[in-house]
Amino acid sequence: MIENVEKNSCCGCEACRQICPVQCIEMQEDEEGFLYPKVVDKCIQCGKCLAVCPVYAV
Ligand code: SF4
Ligand code: SF4
Repeated sequence: MIENVEKNSCCGCEACRQICPVQCIEMQEDEEGFLYPKVVDKCIQCGKCLAVCPVYAV
């Protein structure tokens, strides 16, 4: 799901984390201090994270 968004195109807006109905996305810091979403719990494959992602839509 949200892993389909390339890390280098993610802007860290957190919209995916906020919209996830089961709160399974967590923002995790990489070695340079940027936050990226990671699915850490049971994803129900609803597709909302991708639907809301501003860079995946492009
Ligand atoms: S597909 Fe749905 S449940 Fe899975 S991470 Fe995205 S918003 Fe959350
Ligand atoms: S919605 Fe898209 S751009 Fe925003 S944090 Fe999630 S993956 Fe990155």
